[in-house]
Amino acid sequence: MADFPPTRAAALDRLAAFAPRAGRDYAARRNLDLPGHADVSRLSPWLRHRLITEDEVLAEVLRHHSPQAADKFIAEVFWRTYWKGWLELRPAVWSQYWAGLEAALNRVQSEGGLRRDWADACAGRTGIDCFDHWAQELAATGYLHNHARMWFASIWIFTLRLPWELGADFFLRHLLDGDPASNTLSWRWVGGIQTPGKTYLARPDNIETFTAGRFRPAGLAAHAPPLAAPPAPGPRGLPAPDPFLPGPTQGLLLTEEDLAPDWLFDAGLTPVATATLLATDARSPLATAPQVIGWARAAMADCTTRHAGRLGPVTPTGTVDDIVTWAATAGLSEIVTPHIPTGPTARRLEGLDAALAGEGIAFTPITRPLDARAWPRATHGFFRFREAIPELLGQIRGWRLI
Ligand SMILES: Cc1cc2nc3c(=O)[nH]c(=O)nc-3n(C[C@H](O)[C@H](O)[C@H](O)COP(=O)(O)OP(=O)(O)OC[C@H]3O[C@@H](n4cnc5c(N)ncnc54)[C@H](O)[C@@H]3O)c2cc1C
Repeated sequence: MADFPPTRAAALDRLAAFAPRAGRDYAARRNLDLPGHADVSRLSPWLRHRLITEDEVLAEVLRHHSPQAADKFIAEVFWRTYWKGWLELRPAVWSQYWAGLEAALNRVQSEGGLRRDWADACAGRTGIDCFDHWAQELAATGYLHNHARMWFASIWIFTLRLPWELGADFFLRHLLDGDPASNTLSWRWVGGIQTPGKTYLARPDNIETFTAGRFRPAGLAAHAPPLAAPPAPGPRGLPAPDPFLPGPTQGLLLTEEDLAPDWLFDAGLTPVATATLLATDARSPLATAPQVIGWARAAMADCTTRHAGRLGPVTPTGTVDDIVTWAATAGLSEIVTPHIPTGPTARRLEGLDAALAGEGIAFTPITRPLDARAWPRATHGFFRFREAIPELLGQIRGWRLI
């Protein structure tokens, strides 16, 4: 956690230091997994909780580089947007993952061999030195380089032959940037479920090259046959996003999904009261790592402290009932919240709109303009989505071509 102070100020410092290197340097060196990870931004914990937003990161990078020079970095940031949109269009895939995870955890209870192999993999005790190193690095720091995540997931699935859902869950419990869309869909991609038939095989020579000779594992699987899985449902139509309309008795609900309500204030939101809700413990049926829970809690505190003058009284809540009681007590007619995407927070808040409606209180999630434009484009693969990037970049406020 020392490398990722949970404040917006730290995110802005990291962005300022990294943006000059987000062009050709990043394109040339981003796949290297070296100690300290200086060749990548390591902005993901802040982006995931939106202590800093994708728009801000892209705008700052484009102050230093042309879109062509920063092409690789821009594409990576849009991978995040793409995965969010893809899952928003198919929320059933999150439910499928969760059901598969519960089934795998049941198997762990009854199959001693599986339980031992799973525990060894999570503890970094497999005897595969790189894999053990990454398991321990993840538990210690809450972060792994993208290439290490790919190799780790591939070895988990194809060499150790463990259920992929248990690996995705291990990541989600330990990553400071643990995200239901990027994580679930990346694990599905490695296993050949996301892009049917196309798997990712971790190769010893590739690991040796991109860890600068630190590792050359023996005994890795030489083949990566795609995992069997039901086909993904087709994309649903997203409802037209609600426009934000300021009103006199509005409250604000803040969750760990989006801690940047500034643009709502700019648009005229003046909440009479604010509630906070953290669902970090709901990222897994097992215990989420204390440092992940602590990070999200501190990030929320950073947000409410920075905006203290605009929030009204702030009330921590934990359940739908808490929120309904808070809203009724505060005399609210409407709760506004930055959109809560598919995942643990949305699951915790299932039934909230109906419960509020019963009290005559409106519930209005507001989708950010960039997400509203981008998500409906995530109907197919990334390469089709990518065609929209120039148009999406054009929408980002503050962007100037230099
Ligand atoms: C198996 C697996 C699991 C993953 N789980 C997560 C997760 O839970 N949360 C998460 O944020 N990312 C996840 N990723 C994507 C990626 O590994 C991380 O976003 C990235 O490593 C974060 O480090 P960075 O900020 O230094 O990235 P940079 O290379 O500096 O990229 C800048 C930003 O772009 C976004 N980004 C970069 N690469 C990707 C990618 N492949 N997919 C989606 N967004 C990307 C991130 O927001 C990142 O902060 C996963 C990838 C794999 C292969």
